[in-house]
Amino acid sequence: HPFLNPSAAAEAPPGWHEADRAHLIHPQHHPVDHAAPVLWSRGEGAFLIDAEGRRLIDGLSGMWNVHLGHARPELIAAATTQLQQLAFANTYAGASHGPGVALAEKLSEIAPEGIEAFFFTTSGSEATETSVRTARWFWQSVGQPRKTKIISRDYSYHGSTGVAASVTGVTEFSQGFGPPAPDILHIPSPYPYRFEGTGQEAADLLEQAILREGPETVAAFIAEPVQGGGGGVIVPQDDYFPRIREICDRYDVLFIADEVITGFGRTGHWFAVAHWGVRPDIVQFAKGITSGYIPLGGIGVSGRIKAALDAAPPAKRWWHGFTASAHPVACAVALETIRILEAEGLAERAARKGKHLLGRLHAGLADHPNVGDIRGLGLLFGIELVADRTTKRRFGPETDLAPRLRRELFARGLSTRVLTDVICLAPPLTTPDAELEAIADIVTGAIHAVLPPVLSANTQ
Ligand code: PMP
Repeated sequence: HPFLNPSAAAEAPPGWHEADRAHLIHPQHHPVDHAAPVLWSRGEGAFLIDAEGRRLIDGLSGMWNVHLGHARPELIAAATTQLQQLAFANTYAGASHGPGVALAEKLSEIAPEGIEAFFFTTSGSEATETSVRTARWFWQSVGQPRKTKIISRDYSYHGSTGVAASVTGVTEFSQGFGPPAPDILHIPSPYPYRFEGTGQEAADLLEQAILREGPETVAAFIAEPVQGGGGGVIVPQDDYFPRIREICDRYDVLFIADEVITGFGRTGHWFAVAHWGVRPDIVQFAKGITSGYIPLGGIGVSGRIKAALDAAPPAKRWWHGFTASAHPVACAVALETIRILEAEGLAERAARKGKHLLGRLHAGLADHPNVGDIRGLGLLFGIELVADRTTKRRFGPETDLAPRLRRELFARGLSTRVLTDVICLAPPLTTPDAELEAIADIVTGAIHAVLPPVLSANTQ
């Protein structure tokens, strides 16, 4: 493939793989993942380059976060300037700093309507912890301490810390780690390809759960506008979130939108809830806010919640905070990221290019007997593969489909994530047109190579 460049000089330090295997514990660690190791050494725009000089399109923007692509000089300059001026100062007890204030003020302009004030973490998992603690704290502060339950959904991913892993709807994350956090329950997610019913019917499952539990015990409902890492980019029906908002209003349940993947232009708006015109009470973010150059996450809250934070007696304040909250270097990089997203109209571009790419994926794959669903919103896509298109039967893990596809995609010049049976795509919002087209062609070619249509009967 033209994107592969085997002639580049090898740079991999001898023994790196042995050292990696002996000493580095990876996220969701298992040695079986390291049979075909790759050592990334450089990033350039939409490309990742490995130590052997192989040049691959970064089909997942790192980990759904490098919105502006790699090696942007403006982001490097923003971090460097801030490091030189003030690498760190805390924001406790009345202290503040320019990047923190400026970022919170800027976010209040671009955040979903009604979101007024912001707290910063370093990760999406901490954002989930913060949302859940804040929702429960809010209810006790306004005299409803029994409202502690959090309703989440199957196929959701909200992080790997204690509460976040329990909120996550992929059961594997809660197995073997002791008892899950209390007062958390899950309902089915709207999954247009597999959930037979309308978005409203899927949303009504929330109402049923609230009534079953008792509205006076439910603090919040948490949902990713598009489910990412748990289900493989599941885009809900358009009538789902408006109904969710109605139900939350009816029972005075806070709606937490987890926009860790979908925020900052990914789906074609600053935040994805704008697609359906719904207002969350709390919005969570991380990843793309700094284009992944330095970790930053956080939450934004509505005026009602901010008022409760301000009204609490000092001794009963919101006892929550992190050393690195509003880290000045991360805030400076976030401000520059947002400036570039705005200046280059990248949310609008994601909407436009996303439609085009979705069309190209459909053109190449719609007739393939193992392609069950091709879905997307902005520059965020999932291609779900099935053993049998009529029954929607899944490929079992014994088929090794994910590693086979990953290897084939890699050999053709695309690095991305395959979640069991869904190829996930989330390229940088700055990916040039030619590479966006190449992504669709590589995915089409790889699926045909791994699952040749004429032989598909044998693979089922
Ligand atoms: N929420 C969502 C929707 C996510 O996608 C993720 C990470 N993929 C998280 C929370 C957790 O973020 P982090 O890995 O930064 O802790």
